[in-house]
Amino acid sequence: MLNPSLSEGVSVASKPDLERRVIRAGRTYVDGSFESAAVVIEGGRIADIVGLRDRVSNAKSVLVPDDAVLLPGLVDSHVHVNEPGRTEWEGFRSATLAAAAGGVTTIVDMPLNSLPPTTTADALAIKRAAAAASAYIDVGFWGGAVPDNLGALAPVHEAGVYGFKCFLSPSGVDEFPHLDRTQLLTAMEEVAALGSRLIVHAEDPALLGQDGALGRGYDAFLASRPPASEASAINAVIDAARRTGARAHILHLSDARSLPAIRAAKAEGVALTVETCPHYLTIVAEDIPDGASEFKCCPPIRESGNQDLLWEGIVDGTIDAIVSDHSPSTVDPKRSGGGDFGLAWGGIAGLQVGLSAVWTEARGRGIPLETLLPLFTTGPASVAGLTGAGVIETGAPAHLTVFGVDDPFLIEAARLLHKNPITAYDHRVLTGKIRRTWLRGRSIYNVTEGGAGEAPRFRGKPRGRLLSAVAD
Ligand SMILES: [Zn+2]
Repeated sequence: MLNPSLSEGVSVASKPDLERRVIRAGRTYVDGSFESAAVVIEGGRIADIVGLRDRVSNAKSVLVPDDAVLLPGLVDSHVHVNEPGRTEWEGFRSATLAAAAGGVTTIVDMPLNSLPPTTTADALAIKRAAAAASAYIDVGFWGGAVPDNLGALAPVHEAGVYGFKCFLSPSGVDEFPHLDRTQLLTAMEEVAALGSRLIVHAEDPALLGQDGALGRGYDAFLASRPPASEASAINAVIDAARRTGARAHILHLSDARSLPAIRAAKAEGVALTVETCPHYLTIVAEDIPDGASEFKCCPPIRESGNQDLLWEGIVDGTIDAIVSDHSPSTVDPKRSGGGDFGLAWGGIAGLQVGLSAVWTEARGRGIPLETLLPLFTTGPASVAGLTGAGVIETGAPAHLTVFGVDDPFLIEAARLLHKNPITAYDHRVLTGKIRRTWLRGRSIYNVTEGGAGEAPRFRGKPRGRLLSAVAD
């Protein structure tokens, strides 16, 4: 449930942003398919959905051109904002601007890489205070489950996190240690009792290579994190979820050969969901140049045969969500060791380009946009248990975005809006670009207002709400 009382400080009804208006589009994504429709907005909510040419009195009208589609604002349930503590890596202002420019109107922030990590109710309060005045879109929060707070997840749950993240292998930061298999089971029992969910970074440390320098070649890094490591950890998650009845979620699936086990568990009734990320669907190991540590992430980007199988998991509905796992840093740690894949920070910055990148790949594979859209909207919303996000329906908040499906989009790292100019997508030419985004009926991003060669224009002050999974 969204908690409107948690939006203190946000002015809800000032003109002209919240006046009655109507957005008309020949292709509007409603209830799983495209139809021609006019979306009537009043008081920040969708008041009605009527025919494209229906008369709507007392409303300013926006017409979406025929070469674009009107979508619900996208949902990204896997974003590392890093503020406070590593704000030089990323912060709420820059992350939410990048998200808005990528059509995303709701993110759920990860509990680590910020300091303190979100493993206590106090730490969540510190994080919320950091986000309060600078979020341009809505932000929810994951809590963390670490060895030290097992048995004490209830206060964090009651403070409003959407669930708990844990690692089964070292996380990359000392302040967020991983759980062993016994602790995984303990955490599952605890979240099951709370009615929460456990989201898991699934790699088995016993099957990972040693830490330290690996050189500038990608192959050695790939070999150090084999598919068997993911498969072993995923099997442990499935087993623990089955034994405890907990809702469990597998983060950033890279190993497609684990899909049969995931399919079987879902068919058996285990409460399991799974996500993958744009980089696994659009980049292959064979194309990663030596020293190009902007491509380093864990689990790693694998070979093209693996990618084909991941796409089968998209098309057949096994994979529930496509989320960015936006995990940026400053350029220095990303380049540590001069491009040594063992030493560089592991994390890919791609919050602004997810739909464009995945759509570019999908159209090359003959996969329609309708197949992808649930994985960017209702899928991640349901992974986090978010209501009122990712849908165009009467009564929902008027979070909307316009996607120019054929627009060329040359990615230049320095022009993306996340904080540091490094990304695995640099120099890619994508097809499809977000043109405009509304949050609760307010236009917050409009690419055409910048003019040729200028930065796109953002309107107004940050008005994103801090979301909570519990009502007061
Ligand atoms: Zn992550």
